[in-house]
Amino acid sequence: MMFAIGSKIWPGLSKLIEECGEVVQVCGKLLGTGGAQTHFDGSDLRERLTEELADVLAAAAFVIERNGLDAVAIEKRVAEKRQRFEDWHAGTAPHTVDDLDISVRLANILQAEGCVTIKDAEVLLCKADVWKKHSQKSERELRAVLTEWKR
Ligand SMILES: [Mg+2]
Repeated sequence: MMFAIGSKIWPGLSKLIEECGEVVQVCGKLLGTGGAQTHFDGSDLRERLTEELADVLAAAAFVIERNGLDAVAIEKRVAEKRQRFEDWHAGTAPHTVDDLDISVRLANILQAEGCVTIKDAEVLLCKADVWKKHSQKSERELRAVLTEWKR
């Protein structure tokens, strides 16, 4: 019994994986129906998504508590992530510089960091903190900038 509920090591981990998989399954069905609530098999996908998300929350809460994870740190991150998602959704995420400006700054930063190859540059890009000092852009956006810059 590996990482199951009742296991001595990482109890609940396998259940969390299973429940996450069930959410993925329902999301796949929603993609398959083009977002329609009723699946081809007649089931209500909104209802199924509600249930499976509840299962994930229950499994996550179990894993957090039974494995002594830092609930305060998790709560803090949940709040931060949630705010970021809301900002993206509202289109109010901070963008302090335009793309051209950041391309120039990115090139300067890479040079200043001694990046001589693209591989070096990509390694550096993975260090998101470095970039966050220079921009409000996400790592993905910065990677897109690097792609532009490589041309
Ligand atoms: Mg389930």
